[in-house]
Amino acid sequence: MEEGGGVARGEFEWIRQIGRARGGDGVTLGIGDDAALLRPARGMLLAACVDSLVEGTHFLPGTAWRDLGWKALAVNLSDLAAMGARPRWATLALTLPHADPRAFLGVVAGLRRLAAIHDVALVGGDTTRGPLTLTVQALGEVPPKAALRRAGARVGDAIYVSGTPGDAAAGLAIAQGGLRAAAPADARRLRQRLDRPQPRVALGLALRGVASACIDVSDGLAQDLGHVLRAGGVGADLDAGALPASAALRRVVPDARERLALQLAGGDDYELCFTVPPARVARVAAIARRLRLPLSCIGRVRAGRGLRVRDATGRRVALSRAGYDHFA
Ligand code: ADP
Ligand code: MG
Repeated sequence: MEEGGGVARGEFEWIRQIGRARGGDGVTLGIGDDAALLRPARGMLLAACVDSLVEGTHFLPGTAWRDLGWKALAVNLSDLAAMGARPRWATLALTLPHADPRAFLGVVAGLRRLAAIHDVALVGGDTTRGPLTLTVQALGEVPPKAALRRAGARVGDAIYVSGTPGDAAAGLAIAQGGLRAAAPADARRLRQRLDRPQPRVALGLALRGVASACIDVSDGLAQDLGHVLRAGGVGADLDAGALPASAALRRVVPDARERLALQLAGGDDYELCFTVPPARVARVAAIARRLRLPLSCIGRVRAGRGLRVRDATGRRVALSRAGYDHFA
């Protein structure tokens, strides 16, 4: 707890309630001391990332505590997945407007739910009072040279995306009243994609030695693929007709152009977008089958700069809003 910023006297009791990390998971010393002591596996590089969720900017006020804890970890595991790293440890800096043990314990429970799925240990954190913010740092491991990078795409590489982009953006639009879902089940499904993203950790691991470049899609497919293209000094042709859309998204946004805008510019997908050299594309189908995750080839890397999108009829599509810009 920081001097003057303490949430409550009860903070120490809350922390006692969340307990220690299990042993045997590379944690020499977990929650309860001034710092955690961690033991990376021999020969591994440590992959480190941190991401904050700020109320009103990254999530809607009123989002369930458990969903917030889940998502704060999920966005970080997504970053590690994009690097081809295996996640191992996380810390949580939680800023709460009020001393509220239910908030604290709810956030930790949601985070731990996802952490258990990926064998990640919560090894420490910080708890302060202020505007509602969750910051998670995640640490993972990757063998030297196996890390996936944004740079590396070559002319002729196939471009893939996992899952069905656009769902989370539709979930957000429904929650904000900009979109309507006739079926409540569709609204729930899309909202779930916003609140409980599934970081593609197994996919990131499977793409070691397969993908030439990789990024996770958090700010919209067009913008994030744009980072890969700039890092590789290449351009791309995208086939909008090949972009996979969930059944719920097709029902809620039946117009193909409107749906395309959501899929290219909507944020919060936390899917992986990656490029694969022609000689290795056969391996992608096998990975998709094994992981039971759709991996769709949506275009090809070409010489030059920038992203050219064609619709199903072959016509060029203008990119009006290329992704979500936090400072726009
Ligand atoms: P210090 O003042 O030395 O930073 P704290 O009172 O902040 O210690 O934290 C006590 C212990 O509880 C530390 O081990 C810290 O990692 C852990 N901790 C504090 N807040 C959290 C949190 N939100 N999630 C997980 N662990 C936490
Ligand atoms: Mg502290």
